[in-house]
Amino acid sequence: MDALPTSTRSVPSGEDIRIPSVCKMCGNGCGILIHRVNGVVVKIDGNPDNPHNFGKLCAKGLSGIMALYDPNRLRSCLRRTNPRKGPGQDPGWKEVSWEEALEEVATRMRKIKADDPRKLMFVNGITEIEMSRQVGAAFGESFRTPNYTTGVSFGTHTRVSFLNTGSMHSEPDFDYCRLLILFGSQKGSISGHDTMKSAMGMADARERGMKVVVFDPLCTPTASKADEWIPLIPGTDGAVALSLLHVLLNELGIMDRIFLKQQTNGPYLVGPSGHYLRHAKSGKPLVWDVTDRMAKAYDDPGLAEPALTGEFEIDGQTWRPALDLLRLHVGKFPPERVETISTVPADTLRRLAREFGESAQIGATMSVDGVPMPLRPVCSFADSRGSTCHTQGVWTGTAIQLLNVMVGSVDVPGGSISTSIVGPGEKLRVTESPDGMILFGGGRPGGEAQYPGQRPRAPETVELHELFPVGKQPRPMLGLALLDYPELIPYQLEMLIILGSNVVMSGADPRRMVEALQRVPFIVALGDRLDETLECADLIFPTAQGLERLDFPVNRLEGWVTGRHWYFTARLPAVEPPPGVRHTVDIFMEWADRIGLLPEINQRLNAQLGFSESQRLEADRRYSNTEIVERRMRSMFGADHDISWFQKNGLVAWERSLA
Ligand code: SF4
Repeated sequence: MDALPTSTRSVPSGEDIRIPSVCKMCGNGCGILIHRVNGVVVKIDGNPDNPHNFGKLCAKGLSGIMALYDPNRLRSCLRRTNPRKGPGQDPGWKEVSWEEALEEVATRMRKIKADDPRKLMFVNGITEIEMSRQVGAAFGESFRTPNYTTGVSFGTHTRVSFLNTGSMHSEPDFDYCRLLILFGSQKGSISGHDTMKSAMGMADARERGMKVVVFDPLCTPTASKADEWIPLIPGTDGAVALSLLHVLLNELGIMDRIFLKQQTNGPYLVGPSGHYLRHAKSGKPLVWDVTDRMAKAYDDPGLAEPALTGEFEIDGQTWRPALDLLRLHVGKFPPERVETISTVPADTLRRLAREFGESAQIGATMSVDGVPMPLRPVCSFADSRGSTCHTQGVWTGTAIQLLNVMVGSVDVPGGSISTSIVGPGEKLRVTESPDGMILFGGGRPGGEAQYPGQRPRAPETVELHELFPVGKQPRPMLGLALLDYPELIPYQLEMLIILGSNVVMSGADPRRMVEALQRVPFIVALGDRLDETLECADLIFPTAQGLERLDFPVNRLEGWVTGRHWYFTARLPAVEPPPGVRHTVDIFMEWADRIGLLPEINQRLNAQLGFSESQRLEADRRYSNTEIVERRMRSMFGADHDISWFQKNGLVAWERSLA
């Protein structure tokens, strides 16, 4: 790999190099090679060495060059002169100096901080990656505002994964899956999470004979290529999944009993109150031991045969295993009833449930790296779009995932694979709760809360996060709360800072979101080009475009599980930003310096980023993005892993192993 010259402003004639970097035009972060000739980016190719995308890019990634050389991109700070905001309004942009713009924001921040820090809100979008999020989160926490949120992606699907596996995401195991049922998802068709790898996995799996069934109101590109497209009324996927569960559990009696007994709370006894029966002293959930005909703690070494069905009288009350309650519940969704709800024929539901249950090959095993594992080559899958984005999306996603749970196709070859339960160095990121349930051990500032989520409480945030115990990123509530429930917010929002997120166009109703933004007294936006959200801003700061940025690590959750590799990539700049354009981190650090937050932010970053002793930030110094990035590289991989190492080598990757 060619080393990147330290300056791209004066490059030698005849230069022709490829710079390893990362596309972040969506949340995926595919590896790219930026082809630069005489200081000009001429092409973007996929990086074949990157285990996330193996050299493949989508059309958007390939066109990233257009954003870099967009003649209309922002190059100076802009102030609105027309107070009226909204469609058809000319903001009357007027150029202002960086000094004037920075000081105006700092002055407002000082006033808000002295009055009520909650009146400042940050919205950080999905394309503003790791270091901006880390610094933004440290800024928000140091400022003492609870209003720091990240992008809307992975909403309900993420919560479903947390609830079921302790992972932030799950994927079909394309390597071994033989039957994939997609609910309103375009998995494997250049869409959603792990885009390019999934597309390759889908193509290979189809060639090997994997059957794909798609439930979707539309004949999407994925549905049009599926073995079977089953149209249904929008938002009825949950009923369909419950009906498939009913057929499996009540009509066919197909379930992976060993998996359900050993790895789920299916045997836990539940009473009329909906709570577990607990041991009087230890408080542990109890299960019914069929052999000894008595209740025992779920982890009692003497537990011989936990019951999955039945009714048990204990201390004058009737208790049932959780799985039995689920079985009774799904009994309310016989195919004939669900046909009237969804339009999916009852015969189709029965046929598909049987096919799913039989294809699961319950009892089959295979060896992976010499480790014997169950083989369950079926996967029922919903994404963070489509079926889980309707009302009660978490429960729709849970019903869809429960199909996998019933046949044991969770985190085993062929099934639904969690993507972040193991961290770098093969360390488990999940822990066990006192109830024997999975707890997620990772996360990041401003990120995911642990299972079982929070208890609802009086709102503290503008997005009313506290009212939604299982909601992860309640961005849609931003507009709703400001317009319809302002009385629930115990203060008046005064300043909103937005970066990397076009909230107007990424929500359900652009018109309503614009109306909501009109109620915010002062909006600051950071971006490289104008969009519908920036058009609503009062002050704009121009930021570096993706091909000009240095960021590390770009992988989500500090190392994306690709199935076979761990890896860490850096987004390396191919060209320098034009004069008057800065990195978002440098803007945050400048504000922090001006309002006296640097010592606390630096201290938080030392902890958040896990800086080694030699790389720790000093309290009073303002560090640049480049300095922070390099310290993080060195902290993670040693002193020799600086920016030039990544320029030369592209990424750190190593094979994962079960052994
Ligand atoms: S899928 Fe990959 S190439 Fe396409 S926009 Fe996202 S990160 Fe870029």
